[in-house]
Amino acid sequence: MRLYLQKGPRAAIHKPNGKAFAYIVISDKRRGFFANRGLAAPGTLVPMGTSIFILKSRLDGLCAQYDTDLALGKDPLSVVLGYPEPLDREVAAFVAAHLAYGRVDPMIRAVRAILVPLGDRPAKRLREGTEAMLREDLTRALGPWAWRFHTGPDLVAWLLAWKRLDGESGQGLEAHLLPGPEEASDSALSRLVQRLRRELPASRGTRFSLPDPAEGAACKRWRMFLRWMVRPSWPDLGLWTRLSPDRLIIPLDTHVARVSRFIGLTHRATPDGKMAREITDALLRLDPADPLRYDFALSHLGILGDCPGVRKRNTCAGCALYSVCRAGSESAARILS
Ligand code: SF4
Repeated sequence: MRLYLQKGPRAAIHKPNGKAFAYIVISDKRRGFFANRGLAAPGTLVPMGTSIFILKSRLDGLCAQYDTDLALGKDPLSVVLGYPEPLDREVAAFVAAHLAYGRVDPMIRAVRAILVPLGDRPAKRLREGTEAMLREDLTRALGPWAWRFHTGPDLVAWLLAWKRLDGESGQGLEAHLLPGPEEASDSALSRLVQRLRRELPASRGTRFSLPDPAEGAACKRWRMFLRWMVRPSWPDLGLWTRLSPDRLIIPLDTHVARVSRFIGLTHRATPDGKMAREITDALLRLDPADPLRYDFALSHLGILGDCPGVRKRNTCAGCALYSVCRAGSESAARILS
């Protein structure tokens, strides 16, 4: 009798050194059946994958740890939530999401600073002023402002773009980001990006803000803006109702990409549009109606510096993902079908 790999519910559980393996004991007569299919060499023990049920319960545990006001204080969305009116929130979100890169504390200060000249009612201020007047006032106020790739003139152009798009739709940006009934979900975003590339000055900051999903980009900041505007549950705003949360794609940052690899949501190495879709597809299996409800917790595990990147009992003891994480292990994490 020898040991062979067996996937599925009939697999026995074996735990040498506390590590779980799946195996089945079969006779030599059936050896050819397995060998011909390249399932495993005789006697090989193969680490088990994670069941959907277990993974979901661990991710729910991660949400319980990180879906908190404390974590929200380290997120640019906290600035947006300071505005009570929906359209003011949209303007603040349009700015904050596109500046959401780099170290979080100075980034949040930069977002606050850019919104100061617009006062308590940014949307009202943008709607009431003429473009020429606003350009002059904002250029004077934001001249010295800068955040990494973005300069004051980039943000003046960005705010005036919101004014123009709002003027066309009469109600902010939602209509500009809605795909047609027969279109792929990214078609409207791609169209808007291409339009803004033509209309805005071709500066470094503007180019950084305008990745096109049709060119394979992950579009993290646009995806984050969409998550904020569409998801109705904490911590998001739920201001747009014509796009369903199950059509959103995860805003892929380095933290989400890394932890997603650790727990088997993706096997890709490059954090691009394909990886974002693969992770979103995996999360759709856990929550078909609202896959992005795990995004905030996944990213804040990294943003708050709580993930050392190697799974060790002494440093990861408090992590809800500990039992399903393969960080630093030779075997890749995978989700059982
Ligand atoms: S490395 Fe540690 S903290 Fe990071 S996801 Fe794995 S178990 Fe959690």
